[in-house]
Amino acid sequence: MRLVLLGPPGAGKGTQARMLESKLQAPQIASGDLLRTAVRNRTALGLQAKAFMDTGALVPDELVLGMIEERLGQADAQSGFILDGFPRTVAQAEVLASILARRNEKLDKVVAITVPDEEIVKRISGRRTCRSCGAMYHVIYEPPRNMNVCDKCSGDLYQREDDAEHTVRARLQVYASSTRPLLDYYGRSRLLAEIDGIGRPEEIEHQILSALGIN
Ligand code: AMP
Repeated sequence: MRLVLLGPPGAGKGTQARMLESKLQAPQIASGDLLRTAVRNRTALGLQAKAFMDTGALVPDELVLGMIEERLGQADAQSGFILDGFPRTVAQAEVLASILARRNEKLDKVVAITVPDEEIVKRISGRRTCRSCGAMYHVIYEPPRNMNVCDKCSGDLYQREDDAEHTVRARLQVYASSTRPLLDYYGRSRLLAEIDGIGRPEEIEHQILSALGIN
């Protein structure tokens, strides 16, 4: 299954992608996670990407596209993938289509998860991320066992610079102007299913699986 998850930051794309990985036998490929790993490892790409990410802007295509193409070329992504956070613009979607065309492949489905802006601000500003392993928590919806300590690796939990409220609002504007046009783009090719992102993760997963014709 070659799937794209679309939706604003905080819509639950990452949660759903992780839940779907085993059912679809396809890896989650999250451009934001790949970029954050590069930032953490202080690679040349990470150092250049950080300033854009901190303000909620999109990282330029010359940094993102090579990284995604390399990831899609890895062995585990040959028979399927769940893209989360990529593509984010029509130009990126066109590049994705041409990467897949070179492999004689096509997307199977694009699922857009919709959530109102105010709910997103509430969700994201409560997020906490592990500095060491990148695991995510929420102070209300998914608290760690001990405040500010990662359950998985005991790393330090912090609020990402781009999860602060003013940056979340900037990211929502970027979503509206750059990413939302993808709904029309994929709607035209009849790949798109829209899912209401309010509800328990299991309910949303169920809706996604129905849209994929599974269950
Ligand atoms: P995310 O975790 O998907 O919300 O991404 C966090 C940040 O990484 C975004 O606010 C952007 O700065 C950057 N980013 C992630 N994916 C992309 C992409 N496909 N194109 C450009 N920038 C991206």
